[in-house]
Order: sequence, then structure tokens, then C-alpha cells
Amino acid sequence: MPTQVSPPLRMVARTAGDVRIHTFVSSFTGNNIANATHIVESRNTLVLIDGQFLVPYAKAFREYADSLGKPIDRLYLSHRHPDHWFGLGAAFDDVPVHALSETASFIQEHGEDSLSDHWKLGDLAPEHIVVPKEIAEPGATVVDGVTYHLGRVTETEVDFHLTVSLPELGVCFAQDLLYSGTHLYLTRDMAHWSTVLEELLTSDYDLFMPGHGLPADKIEVARNVEYLAAARQAIADGLTGDAFKDFLLRRYPERRCPGIFDIYLPRLFGDSRDY
Ligand SMILES: [Zn+2]
Repeated sequence: MPTQVSPPLRMVARTAGDVRIHTFVSSFTGNNIANATHIVESRNTLVLIDGQFLVPYAKAFREYADSLGKPIDRLYLSHRHPDHWFGLGAAFDDVPVHALSETASFIQEHGEDSLSDHWKLGDLAPEHIVVPKEIAEPGATVVDGVTYHLGRVTETEVDFHLTVSLPELGVCFAQDLLYSGTHLYLTRDMAHWSTVLEELLTSDYDLFMPGHGLPADKIEVARNVEYLAAARQAIADGLTGDAFKDFLLRRYPERRCPGIFDIYLPRLFGDSRDY
């Protein structure tokens, strides 16, 4: 089943002083899952968040970054799921990639296996992988005069997840802690995941950049909490597999990208390996 490639979306989500926040979202149609990658454009440099999934989108994201006419200082990779780092091999192998140590180790050990597991993608998958060489340590760091707060979040949509926040701009790059207008990739850690999202709801951030879908506000964060609660209740009620999927499709008809179900259901209810 070939994945359709249709036009991505580019937008400026926030401007504050010298800093602009850009987002680039791959297609919502076909089997695509609206991968969202972002650029922090400051006075002299660019900082990128995640590297897209399929080769054409990765190259288009790189073109968008290059069109801004500033060097890419670094790219923060949020987590180890391939839809966030496959594109690094296609368009970003000359860029310093920063990731949590667990994420870098995982790609070092399993990246090639992950690539060969995705052979069905054909030339939509990159020819080689990029292992992050820079370790992102939790805490504050300043790049080109902008303060970045890096957070290490465990046991949510993935075992180890990096968050990047700009307190001075009120922007949190939540990546896959937040699915904006699309179905969530559910895991067995939904309870703790909810707790993390509830902390965002009482934070001072007001713009949340997701890993999938369009830039979001706190209302969408709250909707994700509600979605997780509904999914947990459905599991408690005994729903599994297709019955579970049908329940969520009926309850959330407005959410896009149902292709995500086929990716996570064998892991949530079965013992498929995790990459
Ligand atoms: Zn993802």
C-alpha cells in the first residue's frame, strides 16, 4: 500500500521581536500522519525541531529552512520513533543533531533494523540513517540570544521524550506528547502521559507545537487529556483491536490521520516490537 505524497503546509506560528516560529506539516491525507517539524528563526541562526519522516517531506522541510537564508545551528530530535528521524538521512546529515542519550543509543543500536523494517516505503525512506552525535542535557541553554529549556519526559507516548520550550516566547515544542487534530498514537503509559499534559495545562505556555498536526492552544491539550481518558476507559471496558479502533473513530470523527491505528494497535494489544 504506497503512501501518497501530497503538498505540505508551511506557516509562521508566532513572531516575537527578532524570533519567528515556523512550522512545516506533511500531508494529512492518504496514509500520511501530518508530521509536524518546526524552525526557531532568531537573528543569526536557525534551530530545527525534528526531521520529518518521508524523503520528499524531509527535502521540502530543508528547502524551507534554507529559504530563510540563515545557517542551521542545530536540530533537536524529540524521540526515537522513525517518523521523526528518518528524514535526517535524506536532508540533514550535515546538521548537528541533538537528542537525549537514550534516543541516540536507540538509533545507534536499532536504527538500521528500523530502516529495513520499513522496506515497503521504497524510496520514500532514506538510504542511510543519521545517529545523533550531540547529547541534549535537561536544563536551560542559550542559542543566539534565545533561552531554550530542555525537558526529559519518560513513559508517555514513548519511553524517553525531549521537550524544547522557549519561556520568553510562551512556546512549548511538545512534539508527540500532543496530537493536534489527529488521532493519538496510544501506548500503555496513558495514565502518566495524562499527568504530563495536565502539567502543561497549568503552565504559562500558550502555544504548543505538536509532533503531528497544526500549532495548538491549551484547549487542544485538554482535548488530548480527554482522548486519553476515553481510551483508558474503553480498555477498562474490555475493548481491544478493531472494536477499540471503531470506538475511537466514532467518538472522534473530527480527528484526522486514522492511519496511526494500524501502526500502534499491534503494539498496544499484541507483542509487536517497538520500532
Ligand atoms: Zn510521531
